[in-house]
Amino acid sequence: MAKGTIGVTTENIFPVIKKFLYSDHEIFLRELVSNAVDATGKLKTLAAFGEFKGDLGEMNVYVKVDKEAGTLTVSDHGIGMDAEDINKYINQIAFSGAEEFLAKYKDSANNIIGHFGLGFYSAFMVSKKVVIRSLSYKEGAKAVEWECDGSPEYEMRDCDKAERGTDIILYIDDDNKEFLEQARIDTLLKKYCRFLPVPVISGKVKEWKDGAYVDTDKDLVVNATEPLWTRKPSDLTDEDYIKFYHELEPGHEDPMFWIHLNVDFPFTLTGILYFPKIQNNLDIRKDRIQLYCNQVYVTDQVEGVVPEFMTIMQGVIDSPDIPLNVSRSYLQADRRVKQISGYISKKVGEKLNKMFTDNRKEFEAKWDDIRIFIEYGMLSDEKFFEQAKKFFLFKDVNGKYYTLNEYKTLIEASQTDKNGTVVYLYATDPEAQYSFIKAAEDKGFNVLLLDGELDQHLISLLESKLEKSHFVRVDSDIPERLIEKDDKKNADISPLQADILITLFSSEIPKIENANFIVEYQALSPSSAPASVVQNEYMRRMKNMAAFQPGAAMFGNLPDSYSLVVNTDQPAVKKTIDSAVSALEGEVKPLREEIESLNNRISEADKAAKDKNESADTSELQTKVNELRTKKDDLIAKYAASQPVVRQIIDLALLRSNLLKGAELNDFISRSTALLS
Ligand code: ADP
Repeated sequence: MAKGTIGVTTENIFPVIKKFLYSDHEIFLRELVSNAVDATGKLKTLAAFGEFKGDLGEMNVYVKVDKEAGTLTVSDHGIGMDAEDINKYINQIAFSGAEEFLAKYKDSANNIIGHFGLGFYSAFMVSKKVVIRSLSYKEGAKAVEWECDGSPEYEMRDCDKAERGTDIILYIDDDNKEFLEQARIDTLLKKYCRFLPVPVISGKVKEWKDGAYVDTDKDLVVNATEPLWTRKPSDLTDEDYIKFYHELEPGHEDPMFWIHLNVDFPFTLTGILYFPKIQNNLDIRKDRIQLYCNQVYVTDQVEGVVPEFMTIMQGVIDSPDIPLNVSRSYLQADRRVKQISGYISKKVGEKLNKMFTDNRKEFEAKWDDIRIFIEYGMLSDEKFFEQAKKFFLFKDVNGKYYTLNEYKTLIEASQTDKNGTVVYLYATDPEAQYSFIKAAEDKGFNVLLLDGELDQHLISLLESKLEKSHFVRVDSDIPERLIEKDDKKNADISPLQADILITLFSSEIPKIENANFIVEYQALSPSSAPASVVQNEYMRRMKNMAAFQPGAAMFGNLPDSYSLVVNTDQPAVKKTIDSAVSALEGEVKPLREEIESLNNRISEADKAAKDKNESADTSELQTKVNELRTKKDDLIAKYAASQPVVRQIIDLALLRSNLLKGAELNDFISRSTALLS
């Protein structure tokens, strides 16, 4: 029997392992089972190269729980180890001081294990004693038993083990009794070992008998040794992919599409990514893609490895080239990881393009479900944007789809403004904006439906990417002004008429919380609405942006500003203004003249004072002007209040923009009813 000290420079590594690796301690099972699988694989390789000529025999890996004995045993029939191997691979752990080690890697057990080849030693996270019994494949090898109780001392002796391979026997400590529960082990095996390339057997197949599940005498194989991604795409059918998807993601609807990744240069990577059916919201769960390293489950935290916008995909990625056991920031900075991420993004772009060109109809049918993902990709990944330009689709309010190029061709002739900018009209809510959409369509314009959560961002992106383009929401102006042409007709009214018109309408606009109105007038078609309420595109965007950016909060606090655009050529408006002017002219005209002469006096006084480098005291005159203005406005307002038609015109415009609510709506209905009689 040999005794020795394990080759660790620190006094005692085990308390460290136990303490600092506590949170992740379940991974010991992954480490031990993968060692067993590796040992099995190595022997198969040796046999394939003729270096092992014996009988391979049964090559499964076993995980056995013995609750009574308090042990958990991982066994394999792989290459085994002799005393020399154990000395070399188990007894010598090479790393420098424990302090440095802890300082650097205390955050994550995953980082330590693997990085230092500590896989086997993770057994001590859950064990008070670990025994290795092993018989090497080498001819004439002697079976050996190694034992260690968690101190740096171990014992090693010959033993009688007839079967080739290794048993790792863990004497589970009192704090970790959970690992003596078959159910707990089953869960862990399912998580970490589900796709290992060698059959892993644990427990028995159960059957339903007399109202309970009972063990049969059949061994339960916990893994699928040839998971789908390791197989050739040409051998697989759609059903295979869908079935595998449901194994990975039970309880989900069928995926929209999938991509089988397969590359061996400049890195090795296989995997299958599924695009799940998602609702039209950004339900980003970042744990949908599982990362494997040679079929060993590593993590579902894939940030950095796949492009951010693809984290809504599901599936598996398997690569021995991803440095798995390092910290996340290191992972993201790694050049190879960046290449992998770029590769995946490119593949997804290619697949989408192929789907689009192969079967456009089908692609269009899927579009509403996948567009949020594509938009997210376009917004966050420049290269993906370049790819997506070809298959990105606009959908108009009538449900027709167009590529960016097709759409430009469609609207170019009718929707280019006088500056040569192509104006894209869009609606965000076809119900609420119905009459604006209709009015735009009546003018021969096309209206897009941009109601997705990312569309506001996408609009800004497209405006910067598409040459001379501008997006305008269909209700942000009256149809005649949405796309500015040269043929704008100015209203043919005098300043007096304008003055009366503006006050007439502004005095009757109801108070609406958080909304400001200004009154404008324009000569439009007599058949157009008498008045419309529109919200300036720029202001609305500013407010929208403020919702996303804390810095722009000042815009968020501003009230919504609307314009009431009065159509001076509409007969009812015409009549209203004419009657107002004839009723008010006599009183308003002299007031206006008086105001004008006072204003002239103010500017003369200002000018005279300025010449002398002084400042004039015109406050008395100002006060007078204000008084006269108020008087004039009150006169007009009083008149307006006596003319229900003014309020009726305003309310119709508010109603059309969904701004007429509550008591105001009720008043409108009563007034309308009264007008009927
Ligand atoms: P790593 O697996 O990262 O090399 P481990 O501490 O898990 O680190 O194992 C160290 C070495 O011990 C392995 O590389 C292997 O040579 C040997 N070893 C561990 N487990 C077994 C086993 N079940 N059969 C044969 N050799 C093993």
